[in-house]
Amino acid sequence: MEKTKNRTHILRGSIVYSESPRNLVTKDRAFLVCENGKCAGVFDTLKEAQDAISGEAGEENVSDFGDRLIVPGLIDLHLHAPQYAYRGLGMDMDLVDWLDNVTFPEEAKYAEITYAARAYDQFVADMRQTATTRMCVFGTIHPESTVLLARKLSEAGFGAYVGKVNMDRNAPASLCEESATASFTATMDYLRKIAFLRAQGKITDRVHPILTPRFIPSCSAELMDNLGELGRQQDLKVQSHLSESKREIEWVSELEPESAFYGDCYAKAGMMGNPIPSVMAHCVWSSPEEIKMIKDGGVFIAHCPQSNTNLASGIAPIRHYLDEELHVGLGTDIAGGFSRSIFRAMADAIQVSKLYFRHVDQTKQPLSLAEVFYMGTMGGGEFFGRVGSFLPEYDFDAVVIDDSGLDSVVGMDLAERIERVVYMPDLCSVSAKYVAGERII
Ligand SMILES: [Zn+2]
Repeated sequence: MEKTKNRTHILRGSIVYSESPRNLVTKDRAFLVCENGKCAGVFDTLKEAQDAISGEAGEENVSDFGDRLIVPGLIDLHLHAPQYAYRGLGMDMDLVDWLDNVTFPEEAKYAEITYAARAYDQFVADMRQTATTRMCVFGTIHPESTVLLARKLSEAGFGAYVGKVNMDRNAPASLCEESATASFTATMDYLRKIAFLRAQGKITDRVHPILTPRFIPSCSAELMDNLGELGRQQDLKVQSHLSESKREIEWVSELEPESAFYGDCYAKAGMMGNPIPSVMAHCVWSSPEEIKMIKDGGVFIAHCPQSNTNLASGIAPIRHYLDEELHVGLGTDIAGGFSRSIFRAMADAIQVSKLYFRHVDQTKQPLSLAEVFYMGTMGGGEFFGRVGSFLPEYDFDAVVIDDSGLDSVVGMDLAERIERVVYMPDLCSVSAKYVAGERII
């Protein structure tokens, strides 16, 4: 394992990245240039690569990874760190039963900081080995444990938005904050602790707090209003869940009869992109009005196909969302999803889009490899800024993949090799990983 602060590099290898949703670029044995943490382009010769760097680029800046694949770091736009420890359990329940029987009892344990430390150590260590470089993460309601999570992700070099969860209703006593005021106060405490650590240089500028109302059934209108005000004042972003399952949507309409539809509850608090930038997980059953609101607000959708399958939530109409030019990225939704791999999420997204095409709407063509690769890199990366591609001026997030475990007598071109990595990530490994130009593995 190697970790270096040097942020100017020339990497040589077989390079694959997205330029747009439909355009996957492949370059055999090419040179990828990073200067001061930013991409400076992909070149055919070392001379061109060296010329692209304004300062000196000596031999020590060049890393030749042979025939290995080099791809942008993957973006996990939605996952729950405290659920990592029990991924793969309760996968025969639906969403609401799974929350009550599996998730909530476990998340209550994170009141205990030593338990959180053990669990988050394992989570961060395992995520380091994946191709993910950036993530939007839910913690629990507990400020101290969630600060610890942010700190561990920062120390490991990740880019992340990390949220202390808010829940002031419809949760078991052990996991329900006493009132809207108590929940808000705990969030302020979380923000202060993060700011304090940042001022001490203990949290990097790649890790940020994010507002995290769990979902509308868990959060009163008073709490949502207060969080919305806080988001506006402190320029925060927000992550939450939206229109995941039909049972949940009916529950929201009973709880909030004055809202026109589910997304309207967030909009009233300013959390549908306008003015607070937001990422909403799922959007499986969004109505036309809700989709229009998502589009108008530039809301990011975190598509989590494995979770939607496991919890019998349904199939999100991603072809329609891409046609509408919505912002769509991919999430593992650990532990609604059991896999920590965004490559696997790409494969799952293609598979469920085929079921949607066959069983729901034959005018909606299945997703292509180029489209899901885009969603797992550039599409989700946009939530973090210019992230998720090797186009010039993008943050230099790069992952070197050893796919020799997929060696075959069949001759493969680069596009075919990356397709097999997407379907069989468990047979591949990460040789090196860079975030904003810093090598973290
Ligand atoms: Zn979730």
